[in-house]
Amino acid sequence: MRADRCDQDAAGLEPLLQFVRDLLHRGGDDDAVEIAGAGRDVEFDRIGACGEKQLVVAVGAAGLEEDLFARGVHRKRSLAQGQFDRVFRAPKGLRTDFYGVALEFARRSSTTLTWSSVLGALQVRVPAGADPELTAVRALHGLWSRSDTSAVAAARAAARAASAADGRALDAILDGCASAEAWHRAALTALLTLHWVPGGATPRSPAELVRTAWLAAAPDDSSSVAAVPAIITRRFGGPQAVPRYGVPATLRPRVVRGENWSAGVWLERHGYDGLLEVLHRLDWPVLDGVTLADDGEPIRLTSVPRRAGETLNGFLEPRGAIAVEPAYVPVLALGAVVHEWIHLLVETRRLARLVTDQGGALVLPSADPWLAEGLAEAWSERVLAPAHEAVPLLAVSEAEKRARLARTAPDDPHVLGYLIVRAALAGNGADRTLVRFLDAPDLSAIATDPALAAAWRAGAGAPDVVVPLASRRFLVPETTFTITDNVPDAVRATIRSRD
Ligand SMILES: [Zn+2]
Repeated sequence: MRADRCDQDAAGLEPLLQFVRDLLHRGGDDDAVEIAGAGRDVEFDRIGACGEKQLVVAVGAAGLEEDLFARGVHRKRSLAQGQFDRVFRAPKGLRTDFYGVALEFARRSSTTLTWSSVLGALQVRVPAGADPELTAVRALHGLWSRSDTSAVAAARAAARAASAADGRALDAILDGCASAEAWHRAALTALLTLHWVPGGATPRSPAELVRTAWLAAAPDDSSSVAAVPAIITRRFGGPQAVPRYGVPATLRPRVVRGENWSAGVWLERHGYDGLLEVLHRLDWPVLDGVTLADDGEPIRLTSVPRRAGETLNGFLEPRGAIAVEPAYVPVLALGAVVHEWIHLLVETRRLARLVTDQGGALVLPSADPWLAEGLAEAWSERVLAPAHEAVPLLAVSEAEKRARLARTAPDDPHVLGYLIVRAALAGNGADRTLVRFLDAPDLSAIATDPALAAAWRAGAGAPDVVVPLASRRFLVPETTFTITDNVPDAVRATIRSRD
């Protein structure tokens, strides 16, 4: 037991790396680490880590190696530690998970609040033999993760009707959840940007590892990796993260442009971000269910907001971002966040290179999912290798996902794509190989690339895997619009015949 360890050195001499380990151990209590059972509960337990027993860890406890933090960087270390403490240090122990933090924040306005008061407020009965704390978190998660404001309002009203105390308890915990979402974003950003990964001359941040790896493979592409992408909250209900794709800078004037003087003035004032935001409000003409058909593949007609609303990745977003479920325990979500960041980098480069003009229409080629997921899976694993070496538990979440998928859907891009890219990267010149993957339009180009023939030799003679994909082609008519108070007003829409 070393539960008191993290309270010992207010002077800021304890290494950050140890803190990151402690986060996985709920404030430094080794007894908290449990081997998870298989099955669906793992999904919930991984995100709903409310009590010591719920922290899901599938491999042994991280070792307690000596201070690997670089010597001689005390000032920088103290600064980083200050940032770490602000985000992760609670009055007692460390902040590790969303609902724990929601309760901590709720207690600031309602000091006697406990999980039992939430059970009462949510009118939930604890089944015989069940853990009351976990029952309360499950019930709260059931309500919060639905993002359904009317359900939340109804629950608040029901709690108030039951008693004033229940009403106050539920109000406090729901307000705590809202504040905990901001904490979750800050926690992920801190894990990504603080310098805690040992192995170099000085400790590096995971963000630096991503940058170094990207620049080694794509040195001509330094601007896209300059900033850490924004983390945004999205309540998926389960441990999930997705990239939201922005429009690459070089493509912006081709996607939407000002056609007259006042449009130019508007653009100067609001920029392309503003213009793309307006485009996301332009749901016209309404073409639901209309399909263009000729002899080839049918093309569905749609609008920017409709297309953006039907995919988790968004469409022509003003800014690239990573959307993460708030209850996804930050240390376990770090691998997913780096995975999504690689998606953003790869997709931005791919679009900037492969978009074409065909008969006046801008054609955005769709990504090959096996190529995209293979790169995100295998490359993020390589990038985070020094972090995984120092804290093996950080690798668990992504490995568990692939192991589960390999059992249920072995052709899934996260598994099959991962195996393909990993096999290619095992050879010499991994950075040169990465560029080939980065710049290939699809996997068939990779399969026939003579430079990679050696990587596929082991599979020579095996039958091809053919995976059918539904048609995903769609067309957004070229639309001319005016803007009044940031609201677009459509003037005309054009569909150019390609004959
Ligand atoms: Zn992915």
